[in-house]
Amino acid sequence: MLMRPDLRTQQRDFLLEITRAITAQLDLSEVLRRVLHASLVMLAGRVGIVALNNRTDGKFYVRAYSGVAAGAVPELNVKLQELMDPGDAAGFSREFLNAKLREMADAIDTGLAQSIAMPLVFARSPLGLLIVFRSYQTTITPEDLTTLQSFADQAAIAVNNAQLYGDIQHEHQRLEAIINSSGDGVLILDSDLSIQQTNDSFARMSGWRKEDLIHLPKREVIVWDHLDGPDLEDAMDSGWAGQAAASPAGDTLYVEGDMIRRDGLSLGIGITYAPLLGSDGRLESIIANVRDITTIRKAQEMQSVFISTVHHELRTPIAIIKGYASTLRRDDVDWERELIREKMAIIEDESDRLTGLVEDLLTASKLQSAQALQLNATDVDLSVLAARSAARLDSQTAHRIELSFPENFPAIVGDETRLRQVIDNLLTNAIKYSPDDSTITIGGRFSRQNVTVFVRDEGGGIPKAESGRIFDRFYRIDNSIARRTQGAGLGLYLVKAIVEAHGGEISVKSQVGNGATFHFTIPRD
Ligand code: ADP
Repeated sequence: MLMRPDLRTQQRDFLLEITRAITAQLDLSEVLRRVLHASLVMLAGRVGIVALNNRTDGKFYVRAYSGVAAGAVPELNVKLQELMDPGDAAGFSREFLNAKLREMADAIDTGLAQSIAMPLVFARSPLGLLIVFRSYQTTITPEDLTTLQSFADQAAIAVNNAQLYGDIQHEHQRLEAIINSSGDGVLILDSDLSIQQTNDSFARMSGWRKEDLIHLPKREVIVWDHLDGPDLEDAMDSGWAGQAAASPAGDTLYVEGDMIRRDGLSLGIGITYAPLLGSDGRLESIIANVRDITTIRKAQEMQSVFISTVHHELRTPIAIIKGYASTLRRDDVDWERELIREKMAIIEDESDRLTGLVEDLLTASKLQSAQALQLNATDVDLSVLAARSAARLDSQTAHRIELSFPENFPAIVGDETRLRQVIDNLLTNAIKYSPDDSTITIGGRFSRQNVTVFVRDEGGGIPKAESGRIFDRFYRIDNSIARRTQGAGLGLYLVKAIVEAHGGEISVKSQVGNGATFHFTIPRD
């Protein structure tokens, strides 16, 4: 017998007390430990195991045990799989069940005489299995079975609650991890607009410590230096939250402006607010996604610089070509041959300038979209390229161009056309940014590893603060010379990209008023 009849009432009280203790727990391991302990006491068992259905693979695994050596657990798991999934041939039968339980008992200890298995079922889904093994055998009455099953049902409820609680905890941690790993700033605001939760990105953007932000009113943290349009508070006053939540598209509110950080600096940010309503339709919280828009603004600025530069740079040669072409085709004038030749030469030069600019723009846009420059490598003697460029440009300028290469200047492996573009750009810049009649020197040095080419001029030079930026796309120093000279601010950007594509480096040394010297170094192999 499972229990003596006179003990039954006592047993029920015990059962009630124990199930209360179990269902009050939310920690799954503790629930399983208590279930196991209670079943061993109730059934005077020697060994007990609780197996749970793994929700990922649908298989049963031992999750708590007593009286079993840890080494026996893997084998018990195998037997459990066979027990729970007998396959078509065996099917579920009392004999099959008993045989498997017998095998499990033997795997634990040959002295085990009886096994009692109780399924843990909640809402018709099998959560697990409770098995108690005893050293002796007694008859189990139907009343005993009913009591046991009601215990198992309570245990299943407790397991289910603990699993749900575990899931919520897990989901909570997952959400926290998502919020914390987001590159954007996140604020979760209460319905009174105080900060409930935030993340490291927002702390970085605002200059506050994350822990200091909690419970602060949003208004105290997001202080606007400049704001385009109404802020959240204004939108709330006009009933935005309710309307947005009711709209099927879940309308969000976007606000953009300059926020004054805690350290007093200003930062351009864009905030997207989304309301969260509770089941009663009342506003529970507002999620704010805060984005640092400095890069976007920079890109927008770049784009407008690009448009105005291209517009200006293309318009000038086109206007010249059109002007000369329409002058030459006038029917009422008989142009002298020499004059026609001169004007045609100008048209040709301006067309070349246009072609050059379009090519530079194409290369720049390729580089911008992270496409590597294609290099056609051959042996290239940079001193020869320099001499050719110098000779060609010398005839077109009032500057003196001098060469200063050592006799045995070595060749390198590189793309001749691209390297000529580098030398041409540096020389034309030297011509553009230094006075007529001054001297420009192009020369070289070499070591065992590298060759270096320099271009020196006697112009106004480059302020130190600008020496990094002049290699940026479309960047021109904003001074009177820039206003007098033509240029798209692409030359040095391309020069740097070409030198770097050859594994080299470029830099500039200059003192304002004392000329500038550009050096580029390329590895010899
Ligand atoms: P661009 O000449 O078309 O403006 P670059 O990219 O070649 O574009 O040069 C960028 C800027 O760097 C120029 O606008 C000019 O302000 C500055 N710069 C380049 N070379 C020199 C130089 N040799 N001396 C002084 N300033 C220079």
